[in-house]
Amino acid sequence: MFHDNQRRSYKAEKVLEGMSKKLSRQIVGSLAACVHCGMCTNSCHYVLANPDDPTYAPAYKADRIRKIFKRHFDWTGRVIPWWVGASSIYTDEELDALKDTVFGKCTNCRRCSLNCPMGVDFASVNRMARGLLVSVGVMPQGVAVVSKDQWEIGNQMGVLKEEYLETVEWMSEELSEELGDPNAVIPIDKMDADIVYSINPREVKYDPRTISDAAKIFHMAGENWTMPSEGWDMTNFGLFSGDDNLGGAVARRLYEKVVELRGGKLVISECGHGYRSTRCEGPNWAGMDIPFEMESSVITMLRYIKEGRITVDKTKNQIPVTFHDSCNNARSCGLFEEPRELLNLVVSDFREMHPNRSENYCCTGGGGAMSMSEYTPLRLKSARVKADQLAATGAKIVVTSCHNCVDGLTDLIRHYKLGMQVAQLVNLTANALVVPVQVAVPEMAVAEPVRPQMPLHLSGRKILVVDDEPDILVFYSAVLTDNGATVLEASDGDTALDIARREKPDLITLDLSMPGTDGGKVFEKLRQDAELSQIRVCIITGKPELRRLIYDRPVPPPEGYLDKPVDEETLLRNVRKILEVA
Ligand code: SF4
Ligand code: SF4
Repeated sequence: MFHDNQRRSYKAEKVLEGMSKKLSRQIVGSLAACVHCGMCTNSCHYVLANPDDPTYAPAYKADRIRKIFKRHFDWTGRVIPWWVGASSIYTDEELDALKDTVFGKCTNCRRCSLNCPMGVDFASVNRMARGLLVSVGVMPQGVAVVSKDQWEIGNQMGVLKEEYLETVEWMSEELSEELGDPNAVIPIDKMDADIVYSINPREVKYDPRTISDAAKIFHMAGENWTMPSEGWDMTNFGLFSGDDNLGGAVARRLYEKVVELRGGKLVISECGHGYRSTRCEGPNWAGMDIPFEMESSVITMLRYIKEGRITVDKTKNQIPVTFHDSCNNARSCGLFEEPRELLNLVVSDFREMHPNRSENYCCTGGGGAMSMSEYTPLRLKSARVKADQLAATGAKIVVTSCHNCVDGLTDLIRHYKLGMQVAQLVNLTANALVVPVQVAVPEMAVAEPVRPQMPLHLSGRKILVVDDEPDILVFYSAVLTDNGATVLEASDGDTALDIARREKPDLITLDLSMPGTDGGKVFEKLRQDAELSQIRVCIITGKPELRRLIYDRPVPPPEGYLDKPVDEETLLRNVRKILEVA
């Protein structure tokens, strides 16, 4: 490695040291091969949203990393640095600027790589740079929080074991009730099952219906399956943060649990980065030989239909749908045709989005972008191309096999007012299931929405909605009022406390960032007041990095914690759960 005499910060020194260990043949090839032809430029959604700003071009972004590589690890940069644009990195401010490029201006979607004639894989270079910065503590706050939760609690949303087991049990009871069959349950830690089913913690927190839909499909297929009590998170923030140690630890937890249960196959629920991490990258990060098969649940569902283990009726899903290819599933893992084959079996009106498959644009929430709230405005601006793509299909539902994409798409659909729903293949497949007549399942009307709301009975419940964004206040209030609740509203912390003292609501939905007394202080005051401490609280925030600050307070934790954006179904489902409404 080349050394110079200019003073360098401790962190900058460590980044250089780290780089010397991370330069694989693939990374060096991508750093050395760029000829600055510009062919990749217009493949990036950030460029398309910011056409007059050259700093968004993939090659420009790569050059922020390439110049360091050239100065220290390539002879041209040592001999003629001015000629090849080589320069080193010295200060913490320069590391911060690099952070804004590698985390804030790229979702590691790999669309530019596909359009490079020289085979430059910028996303891999970008991931390496993320990992180097993370190793010296330079990262967006959300990345730090999520990584810490995955290291310490075992999943990236900080879901506690009891919360996970309670939710699975709740979904298990609903399934038995729905099918009128006491044997239709979700087995936990069953030994020697043919399938061990792993999920994304988002399913526990925001979308438990995906768990019961999957359970319904496994049950109807007569599968010998189980969910693990621990090590159940198939997501892996190491892919986003570039931290291979985290990647290895997380993957190992899941693999070891499957081995402990003597499971025959690990089925991974619909999640692009989870599938890529667990199925493709994890064994290398974990340094393990995997003694069982791994499969995406998309392939499992398709197989059940082909083998005649379940029967589906596509006329049950008549609303026009389009399909969004997740970058990790499609571009990185080649899952193009199976989801389409399955879609064509379970929906009546499927319309392709263009471009699609490997050329599809990112949902703009990839690469961990949903956890980096400081870059939200930039992310939503870059989503323009995706919004146009969605609108052009004329579909009312966009289907995607990725929880990350569900969040990214939901957010941009709301931002650009597209009036579409987001669903997953598991929802559509469960809805299309033909259940034998002896099992009493209420038939769904043909044109019903994909995921019909469960009946809610919020009448007699008083809910205080607290948020300083007028749109959100109106939205939450309308949803809750429509479901029978008496709703009170406050747009700042002090008003919220006054109303809480006066009205003693059953539940408060509480935003955190508000003018005046912020939501965190309101929450603590509620918990410390003998008269108000029993009121249930659901935090709903656009700043996931604040979660730790809430849970670290010396008061009992909130009954619920949701990250924005929150759609109608998620809001109702969580309110129902918190208020224990049957
Ligand atoms: S297409 Fe490839 S060679 Fe051309 S500028 Fe982009 S990364 Fe460099
Ligand atoms: S990986 Fe995706 S977001 Fe990043 S520069 Fe390439 S096209 Fe743009």
